[in-house]
Amino acid sequence: MATGKINVSVENIFPLIKKFLYSDHEIFLRELISNATDATLKLKHLTDIGETDVKYGDPVIEVKIDKEGKKLHVIDQGVGMTKEEVEKYINEVAFSGAEEFLEKYKDSAQDSGIIGHFGLGFYSAFMVANKVEILTKSYKDEPAAHWVCEGTTEFTLEDADKKEHGTEIILHINDDEKEFLEENRIQELLTKYNKFMPIPIKFGTREETLPLPEDAPEDAKPETKTVDNIINNPSPAWTKQPTDLKDEDYKGFYRELYPMQFEEPLFHIHLNVDYPFNLTGILYFPKMTQDMNIQKDKIQLYQNQVFVTDNVEGIVPEFLTMLRGVIDSPDIPLNVSRSYLQADGAVKKISSYITRKVADKLKSLFNNNREDFEQKWNDIKIVIEYGMLSEDKFYEKAQKFALYPTVDNEYYTFDELQEKIKDNQTDKDGKLVVLYASNQDEQHSYIEAAKAKGYKVLLLDSPIVSHLLQKMEGEKENTSFVRVDSDQVDNLIKKDEEKVSKLSDEEKEKLKEDFEKVIPKEKYTVQMEAMDSDAAPLLITQPEFMRRMKEMQQTGGGGMFGMGNMPEMYNLAVNTNHPLISEILNTKTAKKQERLIKHSLDLARLSQNLLKGEELTNFVKRSYEMVK
Ligand code: ADP
Ligand code: MG
Repeated sequence: MATGKINVSVENIFPLIKKFLYSDHEIFLRELISNATDATLKLKHLTDIGETDVKYGDPVIEVKIDKEGKKLHVIDQGVGMTKEEVEKYINEVAFSGAEEFLEKYKDSAQDSGIIGHFGLGFYSAFMVANKVEILTKSYKDEPAAHWVCEGTTEFTLEDADKKEHGTEIILHINDDEKEFLEENRIQELLTKYNKFMPIPIKFGTREETLPLPEDAPEDAKPETKTVDNIINNPSPAWTKQPTDLKDEDYKGFYRELYPMQFEEPLFHIHLNVDYPFNLTGILYFPKMTQDMNIQKDKIQLYQNQVFVTDNVEGIVPEFLTMLRGVIDSPDIPLNVSRSYLQADGAVKKISSYITRKVADKLKSLFNNNREDFEQKWNDIKIVIEYGMLSEDKFYEKAQKFALYPTVDNEYYTFDELQEKIKDNQTDKDGKLVVLYASNQDEQHSYIEAAKAKGYKVLLLDSPIVSHLLQKMEGEKENTSFVRVDSDQVDNLIKKDEEKVSKLSDEEKEKLKEDFEKVIPKEKYTVQMEAMDSDAAPLLITQPEFMRRMKEMQQTGGGGMFGMGNMPEMYNLAVNTNHPLISEILNTKTAKKQERLIKHSLDLARLSQNLLKGEELTNFVKRSYEMVK
């Protein structure tokens, strides 16, 4: 028997390993199974090229728990190692690999920015075990070897009598890591990290119900059979060619990824590049709700079918983190912080590739079946609008498929909309005035009024719409967006004929004074306006600019900080052509006039959803008094 001392300069590497990756102990299993997979695939390669007479067969990787012996076994049927190879690959390569890893990351390991901890490899076993054994036999005609190491730099290496080629790693689990002797915990880890690895992984057995024979009597009980419990699907959809997959396969894979998700995805995007970087994957558009945050962290990142993380921040542009699915790329550096990742050239290319693919897919969906695209618009608009807002490249591409629905469910691209309204909705300088509503119920009367004048009214109700419109006005110089209940609407759009007021200038002056006596100045700017006699007597509006800034402040974002809390300011348009207004003007007793003004204002506020709380209660009380 040979004994030896592992030659490392970091004298006590084991305590370091335990300390550094404290929170991530569970990755040892992923590392050992990755090694077992590599060893099996190496053998496959050797048999494929005729390098060996050994039969490849149907190898599996087995994970076994020995609860009593406090041991965990990982067994493969791969290439195995000779004694010399153990010396070389375990004592030298693996150790120096681990050492290098720790040297490099000992400062940043505490930093939560580290993604996976790839690279620690075999020695991560010592995070959970105080003693590790390797029992291995090479596919070459050489005796098996038995290596034992008890978590110090000492090891023993001797011949053993294993007959079949392959490797068994035996971990003697620490007392404070007993969770890794629990079946549920191991099952959970295997499902998390190894669900799509390329070699079948066996963990225990399970009972399978056999189908009843055709002629079975009605009360026959189906028989069960004990079968291997295979954890993984070795060839998941993303590893296949898009041409070999049908829509059903994509949906099936979605269910495999998200077994608890009952809603079907709206559509998928198959990613597949091998130059200048390697990346495969499938992204799905799920139905989106308005809340952007709860949706995130559903994209899983893999490297060669090994799960790494479900936090793809920095790899995928932020607006796409709302999607679901899988990305598999060996070219994403993982032992680095997020900020480094975002500056990495390969990662930048990956991110812009994904953005482009998503845009192309949306465009082709729009072109191929516009009706279907329109139907899905509500469920996908949040991603698209957010993308337009945050990525200039995407904004450009989206011009071809971004839709602007009207309150009457017509869907236009911006170009189509422009064509529709260019003769009817411009201001005095010829600038296009796009009217929109954000809430069909709350702005009902304003929408109706605008439609009655022949204007198109869009329905834009996403939470980020104010930001998007701000951006669009910056990009499209000749366009302004105005919400239907904003004061500018009626003044802004150029009309063929001006409305004449029934009241004289003096009368208007007096009326304005009367109103200003009663109505709080710091809240309302009173204006006399000649409107139709059957339009409302009073109309409360809020300047587009003011309201939009306020909204942008609330939803957070670019340049809006430091504006302080903006006051609630409204315009009160007094319709000088309305009979009630004439009556107010002609009311002689000040008390009665005040009452009329106050009550009318409350009605106007009520229709704008601005009358609340105690004021609303008093208003209702007063109204009952009046009907009595
Ligand atoms: P890496 O996998 O990145 O090479 P590891 O520390 O995980 O680093 O493993 C070191 C080396 O030990 C491997 O490259 C391989 O040569 C050898 N090895 C580890 N596990 C096995 C195994 N199950 N079968 C055969 N060789 C193995
Ligand atoms: Mg490895």
